[in-house]
Amino acid sequence: MDLDLRTVEGFEEEISRATNLDELYQIKVKYLGKKGSITLLNKQLKNIAPENRAEAGKKINEVRKRFEALYDEKYNDLKRLEKEKKLKEEFIDITREGFPFKPGAIHPITITYYEIVDIFTSMGFEVATGPEVEFDYYNFEALNIPKEHPARDMQDTFYITDEILLRTHTSPVQIRVMEANKPPIKIIAPGKVYRCDHDVTHSPMFHQVEGLLVDEKVTFADLKGTLTLFIKRMFGEDIPVRFRPSFFPFTEPSAEVDMGCVICGGSGCRVCGHTGWLEILGCGMVDPEVFKAVNYDTEKYQGYAFGMGIERIAMLKFGIDDLRLFYDNKIKFLKQF
Ligand SMILES: [Zn+2]
Repeated sequence: MDLDLRTVEGFEEEISRATNLDELYQIKVKYLGKKGSITLLNKQLKNIAPENRAEAGKKINEVRKRFEALYDEKYNDLKRLEKEKKLKEEFIDITREGFPFKPGAIHPITITYYEIVDIFTSMGFEVATGPEVEFDYYNFEALNIPKEHPARDMQDTFYITDEILLRTHTSPVQIRVMEANKPPIKIIAPGKVYRCDHDVTHSPMFHQVEGLLVDEKVTFADLKGTLTLFIKRMFGEDIPVRFRPSFFPFTEPSAEVDMGCVICGGSGCRVCGHTGWLEILGCGMVDPEVFKAVNYDTEKYQGYAFGMGIERIAMLKFGIDDLRLFYDNKIKFLKQF
């Protein structure tokens, strides 16, 4: 019996058609694996006449060598193609321009905050800060607003416990500063405050600046002069300013301060309610009851205090009519500043 080579015919074509290394490997298994066609040729040897065996073995060897040569050649080709493909995919154009990187801008609330602080520090006020999570005592009690006082209704408070709350105004900083220092005191206290409000003109978190001056011989005229100067620096020399009597539990007398409407110039518009005036801050002479809470001599010392909302000032300064825009984080809005 002669060596039957029909089972190994065709590998040349199979190898030449392989398009990737996986396919090529499968062909190798098919022919040279444990049960591969070329491997199995050896099993035929025992059926071949002894005198022809050496010749048959030589033939099998030739087939194997031929296969391996074609395989190696194809393997190198495919390997090179894969490498070229990979290099093409991972190509980096090092001459390409960089991505435009836009610098950030300062938030309009922060711009306003800085400007207010600049104006008051230029008049000799120092910046004081205090905790946003505050005791009921500092937020209300020490400011002449006892538990049953009707003024507590003016402020919807986020209570954490009966005695701990999120401060509803920056006024507790006044008490903390007076507890720790003797007069003269001349501070502003800017910061975040919290109330249960949320609509076009109210946000549950907003910013206030509180001012406090305590010394001997302080009069309402000092207060008027300071605030008038502030408003003119903030909104312009020609802005008219007026003081109206008002009520706050921690000042006596108290006043609300209006300035001429910056939108209509005083002729009347929707923003000023057709009055020509805009309410901008509250103020007054510190109530002696507040001084008693911090053991100041009420015969010797007087003081004034004022407070304003930074959002309101920013809205008037930049002509913004919806408070919520400040907190939406829309780039389109923010990049205008
Ligand atoms: Zn107006």
